[in-house]
Amino acid sequence: MTTTIAYDLPVKNLIAGLNATGHVSHVEHRKTHVTIHHNGGRLSHEGVLEVWKVRPASAHFDIDALGDCAQYVRAVEYAWSCGSTEGNQKSISIEMANQTLAPDWLVPQITWTRAARLAGWLFARVIGARPTRDTLVVHKRWSSTACAGPHIDRQYELMLTIAQDTYDSIVSPQEDTMIMLAQSSDGANRKAVYWIAPSENGLVKEYIGDMNLVNFFQGHGAKIVPIKQYLLDAIRDVNTASPVA
Ligand SMILES: [Zn+2]
Repeated sequence: MTTTIAYDLPVKNLIAGLNATGHVSHVEHRKTHVTIHHNGGRLSHEGVLEVWKVRPASAHFDIDALGDCAQYVRAVEYAWSCGSTEGNQKSISIEMANQTLAPDWLVPQITWTRAARLAGWLFARVIGARPTRDTLVVHKRWSSTACAGPHIDRQYELMLTIAQDTYDSIVSPQEDTMIMLAQSSDGANRKAVYWIAPSENGLVKEYIGDMNLVNFFQGHGAKIVPIKQYLLDAIRDVNTASPVA
């Protein structure tokens, strides 16, 4: 049985199921791009496979409405995704489930953030280059289509940021900006930031900004979280607070 990528989150293996459709070319290519798509429907991983049993199409990965990942095609092979021979040769394609249908084609936030994270992993582990505006692209880069839809066009900059952050955290895993949060005595939420850098003897803290604030926070049980996770949590909180009907 063909194995999935060695990702750090679970990957459902639907490679054999897709292979049975015949809608894949088992030819390996040098991958340079990740191409983002949307399902055009509120589909499960198995629902996507059902569509591809009928339609002569495929993609390497799908992220469902819960943010979970499935793989259908080996990352280095030629999936039938982009409506372009060049696009299919150069791309690893990621499909995403929709939350709403036309005209907005909303994609759940957990879905597009996880797709961007997967893209960053693929750039680090398969492609071997940091993602850029030229190499992390949406389907319409390759052929005449609106895919991945207007909503994803609006999220593109954040997706690129998450993909680049993920790539950086894999390639330079010991460097991370940390943020400390605490309630100050005047009732305002104030923040201090420090940087953790690797050294021969382990981690060395280098403080940036207001040392008095850092010392105050340390003495008052400040919450310390990686800033990237903090930003993602903030995004998720906003999404939870204003669900789309
Ligand atoms: Zn597409």
